[in-house]
Formats: sequence, C-alpha cells, structure tokens
Amino acid sequence: MSSTQASALPSSPSSSTPPDEGLPSTSPSDETGNGTAPNPAGTEQPEESAGLLLDAVKDARQIIRLIQCQICSGILQDPITLPCGYSICKTCLPETRPRANISWPATASRLHGFDCPLPNCGKEHATDDCAFDVTLNKVVNVIKTTVSSYQSAEKLPEYSTHITVRDQWTVAGLPSLEEKKIESRVSDGGRILATYTLAELGKLEYTGEVSYSSVGAGEEEVKKLDDKVFLELKELVRTEMDCQVCYALFLDPMTTTCGHTYCRTCVHRILDHSNLCPICRRAISIQAQADRHAVPSNKRLVSMINGFWADLIALRSQAYRLEQQANHGGFDIPIFVCTLAFPDMPIFLHVFEPRYRLMIRRAMEGDRTFGMVLARSTPSPGEPEFMELGVLLRIIKIEYLFDGRSVLEAVGVSRFRTTRHGLLDGYVVANIEKVDDISLAEEEALEAHELSRAIDAADTVDPETPGPTSGSTGAESSPGAEPSSITIPVDSLDSISTRELVNLGVSFVRKMQEESVHWLTSQIIGAYGECPENPATFPWWFACVFPVTATEKYRLLATLSVRERLKITCRWIAEWEARRVSTRQAPP
Ligand SMILES: [Zn+2]
Ligand SMILES: [Zn+2]
Ligand SMILES: [Zn+2]
Ligand SMILES: [Zn+2]
Repeated sequence: MSSTQASALPSSPSSSTPPDEGLPSTSPSDETGNGTAPNPAGTEQPEESAGLLLDAVKDARQIIRLIQCQICSGILQDPITLPCGYSICKTCLPETRPRANISWPATASRLHGFDCPLPNCGKEHATDDCAFDVTLNKVVNVIKTTVSSYQSAEKLPEYSTHITVRDQWTVAGLPSLEEKKIESRVSDGGRILATYTLAELGKLEYTGEVSYSSVGAGEEEVKKLDDKVFLELKELVRTEMDCQVCYALFLDPMTTTCGHTYCRTCVHRILDHSNLCPICRRAISIQAQADRHAVPSNKRLVSMINGFWADLIALRSQAYRLEQQANHGGFDIPIFVCTLAFPDMPIFLHVFEPRYRLMIRRAMEGDRTFGMVLARSTPSPGEPEFMELGVLLRIIKIEYLFDGRSVLEAVGVSRFRTTRHGLLDGYVVANIEKVDDISLAEEEALEAHELSRAIDAADTVDPETPGPTSGSTGAESSPGAEPSSITIPVDSLDSISTRELVNLGVSFVRKMQEESVHWLTSQIIGAYGECPENPATFPWWFACVFPVTATEKYRLLATLSVRERLKITCRWIAEWEARRVSTRQAPP
C-alpha cells in the first residue's frame, strides 16, 4: 500500500449530484431509501435506462458503495442476503432470539430470528430466511481481485489521486459540527482505486461522500485508467451474473433461501414443477406466487445490474414481455370463462366448444397454461361476462376424443386479476396481475400480532381468564380425537392459532366422513385427494368439496393470507353446523 497522509493538499469537489440530507446522492446504488428509489432491474423502459448507467469517473464513489456493507461500512465479507432484499456481512447479523406466538409453519429454523438492523426495514426476520449469497459473494470477490490487481507492482500506475472524505454537514450545506479530523489521503491510480483503498482501510462510511483531485497527471489520463478498470471489472462481474435456468443476464434477480439467485420469472418456472433449487436440490421456501412485495428482489444485484448494464436489461425485459404476448394476440394469457378453480387443486374439464378446442390446442403447443374465470351469472350492462379474479391452470393430462372434443385434467398454479381483455378467434384473452399472499414472514407476524393482542385483551378484561390457545391444540379439536364435540368460536377466531384453525377444519371433515355425508364420497376423495392437514392447502381443498355457494367460494380468491382463508372456512363450518342443529330441532 503506497497511500500517504496528505491532508493539506487542496481538493476539488466531485461532480456527483448534490446529496440529500447528508446521505449519498440518489443513484443506482442508493440503498438508503432517500430520494427516488431505482427501478428494479427489468422494469425500466429503454429510454429511461440511460440515466442509471454508472460512469467510471463521475460515479467512482457509487461503484465502490455497491460492495460496501451498510452496517460496518467495510467491503462485504461473506454476504448474507436478508428476506427484505438487503445484504450485509455475516458477522454483521444481529444475535438471534426465539420468536413468539407462531404455530405455523413453526419449523425449528423458523422459530428463531432477529430484528433487521437496516433502518429501512426493521422487520423481524426468521434465521431460516437469511441466505449466504453465493452470487454476491463471487461478485464482491471478483471486484476485490480486479481492483487490488492495480495496487500490485506490475500494474501500478505512475500517478495518484488525492481523495478527501467530505464533511457530512458541508455536504448537506450546513456549517460543520464535526470535531473529528477529515480523512484525506493520496492513493495510487485513479478514482476507483482511491475510493476502494479508503473503504478497504475502513476510513469511508457507507453513506460518506468524497472529493478527488489528480496528482501528477491530467484529467484525461485519470479518466482513461478509471474507464479501463471499470470495463475490466464489468466484464469479469458479467460472467457471474448469468441465471442458471435461462442462461441470460439476471432479469429481476431473486435470491432463494439456499443462497442461489435466479430471475424472478425463472423462479416461477422452477416452482411450477417442483420446489427444489436446480443447483443444490434443497427446498426453496418461497411461495409459488412470489411477487415483488412478498419476496423483494436482491437489492445489491439489482443496483449492480442497473448500474453496469441498464441498457441490456431494459431490452431483455421488453423482449420477454413481447415474447409472452406474441402468442395471445398482444395479451398475457387465454381465458376459459366457465367455473371456479383453486391454486394447487385439480380441475377436470370436458372441452367441446370449437373456440375452446382451439384455445386448448394452442395452450398445448405453448406452455400448457390458460386462465380459468367464473362466468358472471347476470352481468350488468357494460360489465364483463366473467368475474375479475381467476386462477392460472396448467394442463397435466389430456385425452382427445375422436370428434375433436377433449377431456383434460389441469392443476391450479396461481391466482390473478384481469386488468384488460379482448377477443382472439372467439375466446377471451386478457392482461393479468398476479394476486399473491403476503410473505411467510408476514403471515407469521400476523398470527403473532393477533394472538398477542388477544392475550393482552384477556389480561385487561379479567386477569383470571386464561389467554388464547397457543400453538398446541386442545384434545377436543385435534384431528384424531372424538369428533362430535367440534364447536367453532366464530366470534373469537382471531385468538385461535393458525394450527388450531386448520385442526378445527380437519376434525370437521373427519366427522363428516364418519357420517358419510353426500358431498364427501370416495369418488370426491379420489378426485381431490385426502383432506390435507397443511394450513396452506386445506382451504383450497375444502372449497373444492364443501357445499357452499360459488359466491362464497369466490371470496377465497381475494384473500391475502392463509389465516384469512382458514377463518372463512371455519365460518362456513359454523353456519353448516348451526343449520343442522336448527333442522334437527324443527318440529316434524
Ligand atoms: Zn430486513
Ligand atoms: Zn458488515
Ligand atoms: Zn433466468
Ligand atoms: Zn440452491
């Protein structure tokens, strides 16, 4: 290291845009949440993307910030990517503690967590959701190696850059209140090298801004060197940024809980078939819907991709959209206007109308998917002939009859809302928005919140009253117990744990099976499978078999959490039981 202290040298301010409130200026690497957040990779239009591209000279500070930890300000070491999409060093993770009032999924690794140390998040994260980020680790190491190679003897440039950390108060346009000495030094090479050196030495805060002046060389020479370093660094980083599903540059990268990164659309494609990571074969604990809100993109990789290749990714994003729409007359998916379908559940269709035969044939030639929406019984004038919410189906089995009709089995993949629709050769085609549940972490937080509120309420009303039932279930409602005593406390469903809500439903089904009710024949069980005890699938299964109106069942499609759906199914059961009691009590 040949850097020397030279704090007396004059310095010129860097050309970066004026920062806001003493925090880094808004740029592709801005993770502070101040100013306008950059678009996630893949969402911006080509004409907007030019402004996101980083410049080796103007943005040297931002380039190095991309590999700095927001907690310790050092160069990221063993980066862990959190479920909120931020990445920090492994050693910067806070200590874990047990998480309270969560009955589902309640796996050992989800029962411990910590409060996110990042000021823009602050949420509780389960340890299980935090992954050692394989891609980011490689990228940081590539940048480290490239930049440090210029610090070595054979590549050492003949001139240096004087770098000065700018006083946070001065940056904000206020008189300085800082007592401590301003960091300033002369480093070999151009701006990128000087900034990296300062960060590596631990002398540059994550939010810190700097100014530069070149020593012993003109602007042009410094620019040439910075451009060269940046180009080399981008080329090497690029080799680590290919998705292992589509073999192209990550489009909206998402890091799974095993630490591997894929394009968001590629994660959807993986989850359509299995829940195993194609690289490491470990289970991916991400819901199949995985929208940007529930499972945020990997913020570091997004910033890097936007900063290094904004133009490329914008074109790729546009091409993807066009490719998707090309098959459906400019719309996202073909729509079958018929009946209700539910995620994860099978549906059996007899296709005889010519327009739908054509639609199904086209689906079979493509990705085997189509949307199913319920026909509106009495559409008002101007209203579409079908309901707004539907389910994307994937055909798993099809049998063509001799006259062109077909019988098919499909399975529900995900829910959607139609935003715009048209007609293609007689059938409906539509643009859709996915309808997703909240994330698993939010689901757990919802349960913990409702249960703790119920405990508090019970304490206030009467200290003698026991609190709500916890994760363990009472014997009267466990699936294996005597089923005749099921009562659903409809007024206090909020105080019942998620696990117990599903147990109430499962016990009811067992009781109905014993009573051989007409809607639970062996043929029905054969079609939809045995009653699932998994809270995530129970309501969908129950909606397939239970005799309530389509309007009631349709409500499930709009729900955003497993708990919400379980409560709806519990109310159906309560109403059914109440009706039976009143029928029995009625005089003959
Ligand atoms: Zn967080
Ligand atoms: Zn750190
Ligand atoms: Zn991909
Ligand atoms: Zn993996």
